[in-house]
Amino acid sequence: MHEMSLCESILDIIEQQAREQQFAKVKTVRLEIGALSSVEPEAMRFCFDAVMQGSLAGQARLEIIDVQGQAWCMQCGHNVVIEQRYDPCPSCGGFQLQVNGGEEMRIKELEVE
Ligand SMILES: [Zn+2]
Repeated sequence: MHEMSLCESILDIIEQQAREQQFAKVKTVRLEIGALSSVEPEAMRFCFDAVMQGSLAGQARLEIIDVQGQAWCMQCGHNVVIEQRYDPCPSCGGFQLQVNGGEEMRIKELEVE
């Protein structure tokens, strides 16, 4: 489950931010998860609670923002929304798609006190 190591990296980032910005407690963590990032939101929630336990984000709420997968279709020249990698183009049915969005997982915002 790579979500566990992702959560550990998130905690590293939070601790680093806490040192730089002098906060002691995190109330909310807003995460953007791209539809094509191969990160499972449910697994993420489970690991988040386990990893944050006892840390400054131990009481933090995890908010997940879904980011749509997007790709550029070389056949019809449209930027289209796709749900999964290797999906055909919803507008022309072609398979020559270049993914250009929704692959990332990143911390969008931390609410702290
Ligand atoms: Zn197309």
